[in-house]
Amino acid sequence: MIFVAKTTDVLIIGGGITGLSVARALSKYDVSVTLVEKEADVGWGQSKASHAVRHPGARWAPGTIAQQMIAESNQLMAQLIEDLHIEYKKTGELVLAFSKEEVASLNIMKKQAESIKVGGLEIIGKGEIRRLEPNINPAAVAALYMPTAGVFNPFDLVSAFFENARENGVRMLMDTRVIGIVFEKNKFIVETSCGEIRANYIVNAAGLFAEKVARMAGAEDFHITYDTKATCLILDTLLGDIVQHIVTAPNDPKTFLRYKLATPTFHGKLLIYTSFSEPAKGIEDRAVSKRVFDATLKSAETLIPDVDFERHVVASYAGLTARNDRGDFIVEASRKYPAFVHAALPPPGITCSPAVGRRVVEILQNNGLGMTEKTNFNPYRTSIGSLIKSTPAQIEALVREDARYGRVVCRCEKVSEGEIIEAIKRGATTLDGVKFRTRAGMGRCQTNYCGPEVTALLARERNLGVEDITKKGCGSNYIH
Ligand SMILES: Cc1cc2nc3c(=O)[nH]c(=O)nc-3n(C[C@H](O)[C@H](O)[C@H](O)COP(=O)(O)OP(=O)(O)OC[C@H]3O[C@@H](n4cnc5c(N)ncnc54)[C@H](O)[C@@H]3O)c2cc1C
Repeated sequence: MIFVAKTTDVLIIGGGITGLSVARALSKYDVSVTLVEKEADVGWGQSKASHAVRHPGARWAPGTIAQQMIAESNQLMAQLIEDLHIEYKKTGELVLAFSKEEVASLNIMKKQAESIKVGGLEIIGKGEIRRLEPNINPAAVAALYMPTAGVFNPFDLVSAFFENARENGVRMLMDTRVIGIVFEKNKFIVETSCGEIRANYIVNAAGLFAEKVARMAGAEDFHITYDTKATCLILDTLLGDIVQHIVTAPNDPKTFLRYKLATPTFHGKLLIYTSFSEPAKGIEDRAVSKRVFDATLKSAETLIPDVDFERHVVASYAGLTARNDRGDFIVEASRKYPAFVHAALPPPGITCSPAVGRRVVEILQNNGLGMTEKTNFNPYRTSIGSLIKSTPAQIEALVREDARYGRVVCRCEKVSEGEIIEAIKRGATTLDGVKFRTRAGMGRCQTNYCGPEVTALLARERNLGVEDITKKGCGSNYIH
């Protein structure tokens, strides 16, 4: 194991969207920043499980930190999408109501969103719903139309922050788990699975593990809960355009955070989900139960009837959500150490990532971290050239520049060797790392055809044997 960083001004613990957004925000300044992530790659915690919906803010109450952060992020996101070439589709959202009680809750949600100046909101009736979405359940009597909602490619969002922060000098250490923290002579001495790091400041962005990490320093100011699992089903592209908008409906008209969802994904698949109280058996529980699988299919039918969803399922997964005993975002210096900053986010952390990054920088600055803006900060990042997103003329140009873009490795998702090599150059070390950056393996065959070839490419580019290549890090070798 190679270990390089011994001292750093700021140590960020956790390479999810929160830690990476903080890393990118800090990389504008002349301070040394190190990010440690326990997994082999970034974004493999809650960020990967996310539906990747950019929420306009109607579900969060005025006065909450979450809603303030949504409002701030609404100001910042457009520029980031442009500068970092983030894959984002503005789809709009329809929140359906099937009863008088639900219509009343649409009005409350509309008011909540108006309080942060979300534009274009409208309560629409049956005729307009049908015009916008002909396949939706005709029993819906009204809908809240929110045109500013949209969907990200969550993996690309994470990669964009990661690549740009690294380009601007943030040291990224994967496979590095924090196991102990001691405060001594005005410094944090952080024990990791790869050795010791000394840091003047710590940002705790460990997601589900944020309470555990805080406890290591004796700075546990909150309690993280992950009581229930969220199960999501991905349906193939044949159903990708059955709805054009994010379509939701309340599961409980009094709790706006409990809803059912059918949304097109950035890459033209369909994602379905319903809030379901399935207890999690522990912090690593990701099992999909048949009961919730069936309930998710059934709830999708109440949004879009007469579709055989089950026949089109290509993948299913479950994720845990880090909620906390305050019921809001926690972005603050710890009570015990002003230099130990918590960034513990319940949903919608994807939506709020830009504001959280900025807020953490302000807290560090206010708590004594001297910061001068760099003159050579590069705000831009380009995405990986991709066959599926390119026009025939663009494909021709890609292939002319590098013939490997002309050889398709993943047939389901039309991913070329050129894209896979580029993903490896940008930091993918595993099959999942390649998959999340390029989509190789995300199609119908789920790596059955392309898996061996991606493994061979990883081995060749990384100068390793094929037997050393893993699906997702230590202990998951693809070939035994
Ligand atoms: C099913 C689901 C759907 C969601 N849908 C949406 C949505 O549509 N829109 C939206 O805005 N939000 C959504 N969210 C919420 C959003 O995904 C989270 O708020 C956000 O991803 C939190 O990011 P994070 O970086 O704080 O946490 P994480 O992504 O969990 O990252 C924390 C990281 O810390 C690392 N780590 C933990 N302990 C250690 C340690 N000791 N040492 C080193 N590293 C460590 C972990 O490995 C992990 O990578 C959803 C969440 C779920 C579960």
